[in-house]
Amino acid sequence: MQGGKFHSGSIKHLRILIITSCTGEKTVSPPDQLSLLDFQQGAAHVRARERELKEFFTPAGEIYTGEQHVRLMRGLSALRTCSDLRPLDSALWILSAGYGLIPEDRKIAPYECTFATMKTRELRAWADHLQVPKEFRSTVAQPYDLTLILLGDNYLQACQLDDKVKFGGLTVLFCGQGQAKKIPRLPNVRIVTLSNAEAKRFSCGLVGLKGEVASRLLQKLAAENDALLRLKDPAFNVLSWLDEAALGASAPLRETKSGSAPSSSPREKCRANPAVDHVIQLAPSWQDKPHRQKLRYFIPEWDDLVDPDYDFLNDQHSGGSSDWSNEVYAHQMYPEPNYDGLLMSRAVAEKSKKKKERINALGVHRFLRVPREFPIMGDCGAFDYIMEEKPPYPTEDVLDYYTRLDFDYGVSVDHLIVTATEHQKKFRYDLTIHNAEEFLKEHRKAGLKWEPIGAVQGWDAESYAKAAAQYVKMGYRYIGLGGLVRTASPEILRTLRMVHEVVPKGVGIHLFGLARLKVIRQMADLGVTSVDSASALRRAWLGDDDNYWTLSGRHFRAIRIPEAGKSFRAKRMVSEGRASGDEVARKEEQCLTALRRFDKGKGSVVDVLATISEYDHLITPDRTMILEGIRETLEAKPWKTCPCSICKRDGIEVIIFRGNNRNRRRGFHNTYVFYQFLQKALNGEAVPSGGEQDRNQLELSQLVTP
Ligand SMILES: [Zn+2]
Repeated sequence: MQGGKFHSGSIKHLRILIITSCTGEKTVSPPDQLSLLDFQQGAAHVRARERELKEFFTPAGEIYTGEQHVRLMRGLSALRTCSDLRPLDSALWILSAGYGLIPEDRKIAPYECTFATMKTRELRAWADHLQVPKEFRSTVAQPYDLTLILLGDNYLQACQLDDKVKFGGLTVLFCGQGQAKKIPRLPNVRIVTLSNAEAKRFSCGLVGLKGEVASRLLQKLAAENDALLRLKDPAFNVLSWLDEAALGASAPLRETKSGSAPSSSPREKCRANPAVDHVIQLAPSWQDKPHRQKLRYFIPEWDDLVDPDYDFLNDQHSGGSSDWSNEVYAHQMYPEPNYDGLLMSRAVAEKSKKKKERINALGVHRFLRVPREFPIMGDCGAFDYIMEEKPPYPTEDVLDYYTRLDFDYGVSVDHLIVTATEHQKKFRYDLTIHNAEEFLKEHRKAGLKWEPIGAVQGWDAESYAKAAAQYVKMGYRYIGLGGLVRTASPEILRTLRMVHEVVPKGVGIHLFGLARLKVIRQMADLGVTSVDSASALRRAWLGDDDNYWTLSGRHFRAIRIPEAGKSFRAKRMVSEGRASGDEVARKEEQCLTALRRFDKGKGSVVDVLATISEYDHLITPDRTMILEGIRETLEAKPWKTCPCSICKRDGIEVIIFRGNNRNRRRGFHNTYVFYQFLQKALNGEAVPSGGEQDRNQLELSQLVTP
């Protein structure tokens, strides 16, 4: 097979470069954020201002919340978290109008500054000052297998593309038709023009369109072995190909890479492990938990599975490659689940053809390997169609879906009201209410047994309360408030107070996407009966200084030991001749050995730090290593005292930041810690709090919340 030629040896070294633009919307926007004026005053001034904004420091890859960035990151993070990075390596660079061209892990302060509004001459001068043309040229000249460029007109201008720019590998450049005419013909570059027609075709506003198509392309790359070969063919229609992704194949990474991978796949075939496919039993201690009288904690399920027999010493999957048939869920690894229920979105359930077939055949309980009495809530995942005019699911179809998969709770089809869709807020509000009404009516008519939850959207406390009152009147016994993830706690409490006034006792209230320990008791007192959140899980691999949580309330930095064979930076060092492959691999091995020896009481903190810093310096010479956080981790050895079954078994491996099997285990451990605190908080006991703690409760998208 032709595709095999490309993949058989080289996929392990597949290098992807993505260059995207900064967006005005950011996770943090303090009033005194940096402005163009600050940047114009030079580096020393910027550093001083950054010190003032220290608490808002965020990696560039996480700071932007504009549509393009969010959509792009969805594709990218699907790759990273679901595929454990095996065949893929990617480097995201962001063209910032304040900082210039920067890698995604560079921590930056929030700023307000864009190329989009600059006049040509000002733009040129400022781009030159930031050395954008020079940095752009040296970055794209590297021998990448694929480069994606997602820059708006002014951002492209800042790069000053001319016929002298050399692209080191196949490059796909997305831009508007006008801009396409101005770009010189360049070897290796394929221009894909996007217009309103494509916005319509991909159900996505123009603002986020580049992010959407790039995200689809990344998913295609993971799913199809000959994707790169196709892209190289000038006659190949890229947009039609990406359009196919809409048909339920939005992120088939884990599934496709394993079981159904064609024979040309470089990945080892996955072998099923019959021992993993069993339904857990619920211990009486779990069934009688008193906190549940007040509030239940659901965890969203996003294919969070690990290999129970993972070989940490050789970094090998026991089943060849990862698949549902050889991996376990968190609740299979603990004596009892660290949550009171699961929440599964339709987009997740129907993520790939194979998964859809499995879940339809088994039902959602058997698929997730929990007994029938374990509560599972289903929703339609409003974030997945946020930019579409209407939700893609008709009510009738959704009722059938919840019934077929045997959910315990089904949420009516809502439509999110966010800043980006501000102009449609009334339309979306009314649509959500209308859907809820139809949902309940049809549910009754069909005499369905699962409990319907009426999804409420709104834009302030008053609008939420008004809708809630209507739902009660319709006859709902359970309502769910959505769209509050980015709202500050005081405003959420104000909303709850107003909702509480119109919702009688006995009607349950679910809060979607947030579970903040600091206010959880207050929320319960205001009538909230359930919440869901995956923050604890995801902090394990998002963010820097709070990857590993402990029962003492302290949070620790996980120790990053990138896999030499997979790390983009490590490979770049080798490809640029700055280090030999052997040298990188040797240093990597030394780090792992030093850590394991340290765990056994051999070697000092100083020695281990020196070894780690040497490796880190070798592969990331441009980054100042944050040794202090690692020193704290090593000195406290928190993995040694954690009573959870994962830490007891896998010990120090859990705190090493490296691949799915360590990172997700750490996430499961964090969920265990979170659940302990949640129970305490609801039972009226004090839980560790303070700024750090509160921050950890927040979803990534709302770090700004006080
Ligand atoms: Zn643990």
